[in-house]
Amino acid sequence: MTGLLRGRNFLPLREMKSNYDVVIIGGGVQGLSTAYYLAARHGIENIAVLERDYIGAGASGRNTQVVRSNYNTPETIPFYKESLQMYRTLSQELDFNLMYSNQGEIDLVHTDDSWRVENDKCLLNQQMGVDTRMLTPTEVLEVCPHIDLSGGGKLPVIGASYHPPCSFVRHDAVVWGYASAAARLGVHIHEQTRVTGIEVDGGVCRGVVTDRGPIAAGAVLSAVAGWSSEVAAMAGLKLPIVTHPLQAFVTEPVEPVISGLVCSFDALVYISQTQRGELLAGAEVLPYNTYSCRSSFDFIAECAARALMFIPLLGKARLMRQWTGLCDMTPDSSPILGESEVERFFLSAGMGTWGFKTAPVAGRSMAEHIATGNVPTVMKPFLPGRFRSDRMVPDAASAGTH
Ligand SMILES: Cc1cc2nc3c(=O)[nH]c(=O)nc-3n(C[C@H](O)[C@H](O)[C@H](O)COP(=O)(O)OP(=O)(O)OC[C@H]3O[C@@H](n4cnc5c(N)ncnc54)[C@H](O)[C@@H]3O)c2cc1C
Repeated sequence: MTGLLRGRNFLPLREMKSNYDVVIIGGGVQGLSTAYYLAARHGIENIAVLERDYIGAGASGRNTQVVRSNYNTPETIPFYKESLQMYRTLSQELDFNLMYSNQGEIDLVHTDDSWRVENDKCLLNQQMGVDTRMLTPTEVLEVCPHIDLSGGGKLPVIGASYHPPCSFVRHDAVVWGYASAAARLGVHIHEQTRVTGIEVDGGVCRGVVTDRGPIAAGAVLSAVAGWSSEVAAMAGLKLPIVTHPLQAFVTEPVEPVISGLVCSFDALVYISQTQRGELLAGAEVLPYNTYSCRSSFDFIAECAARALMFIPLLGKARLMRQWTGLCDMTPDSSPILGESEVERFFLSAGMGTWGFKTAPVAGRSMAEHIATGNVPTVMKPFLPGRFRSDRMVPDAASAGTH
C-alpha cells in the first residue's frame, strides 16, 4: 500500500530532520487532519507526522465509515454538526475523491422508554438545527423496505428516529486525502517510524525519541487513539482511557438492498451496505481490554444473530471478511482534545468509536489551538482538564449502538 501511494507521488519520501516546529505522533485521520490544517490555515509547514506502521494502519483504516450529527447534548451536537458540514465539501478542499455518500440513518425503537429517549434526542437536535425526526413503523418501511418489523419475532419495532444527513465516507480515502494535501504543503510524513519516548524538561515537552533517533520539537501532538495511554505514559501522564477492541464483518457483495445505516440500540447492532455492495454489520466494543487486533468467531455468531433479527436477507449472503480495531474509550464517551499538564504536549485522544466522524472539526480545532493557543468554542467542552473539575460531557450516543 505504501509503495503504491509513493509511486503515485501522494507521499514524497523526505529526509527526516532533527528539528520540527510540530511533531505529530500517529498517522491516522486525527494526526493527518491536524497536520493539514496547521499547514493550510496557519502557514506552519515544518511539521512531521510519525507513524510506526503505514498511514491508516490504526482504527482510521478499519472503521465502518459513518459520519453523522444526531448526538444527545448541547456540547456534542455543535461539534459533530460542524464536522459533518466540513465533510460535505472536503473532497473539493483536499482535491481527493472521498466518496462521500449521503444515505440517512434509522435508529429502531422497541420500547416506550427508548421511544422517549429518541424523541427527546429529536427535539434537542431540531432545536440545534440538526434534522432528526421520529418515524412510525409504516414510515420505517418506506425508508428501508427490507427491515423485519417483528425484530425476528423477538424485538418488535414500534418506530424509529430518522437522521437524513447521516453519510458514509470512504475511510482510507480520508486518510490519503489529508496525507497527500498535507504533503503538498510541505508536511513530512514518516512511516515506519515509532516514537519510543517523549522528552520533557522542567514540565515542558521538548521533543520525541524515535527508533530512528531523537527529534526536537516546538510542540508535540499525540494522536494515537488505542495507544494513547501508552504514549501519554512516556510523558509521565495517566489518562482516563481504556482500550477496547471493536469488530465488524462484511458479506460478499450483493445488489443494492439497504440505503443508509440501520441501528438498534436495544439489540446493540448496526447494519449498512458498502459502496462495493457488501452487507456490513457491527456492534458495541468488546467488554475486555487488549491491544490485540485478533478477530473472534464469537463476535460473528453474536453480531450476525442480532443483525438477522432486523435484516433477514443478510442470511442469504455469504460472510466474506471480518476485522478488528482498537478504541480508546473515555468515561464520558467524548474525545479529549487540548494541551496536557505537560506544556507543549497536546492530546488528540479518547476517539473511541466516534473519531472518524470528528476528524475535520477536531483536526481544525487542534491546529488552531497548537498554532495560536486559542481554544475554539466547539472544542472547549472536550479539554483534558474536565476530568479533574468533574465537568464531563456524557454522550453515549457517540457509539452508534447506544
Ligand atoms: C471497527 C470499527 C468501526 C468504527 N466505526 C466508526 C464509524 O463508523 N464512525 C466513526 O466516527 N468512528 C468509527 N470508529 C472509530 C474511529 O475509527 C477512530 O476513533 C479513529 O479512526 C481514530 O483515529 P486516530 O487518527 O485518532 O487513530 P488511529 O487511526 O488509530 O491512528 C493512530 C496511529 O498511531 C500509530 N501509533 C501508535 N503508537 C505509535 C507510536 N508509538 N509511534 C508512532 N505511531 C504510533 C498507529 O500505528 C496508528 O496508525 C470505528 C472504529 C473501529 C475499530
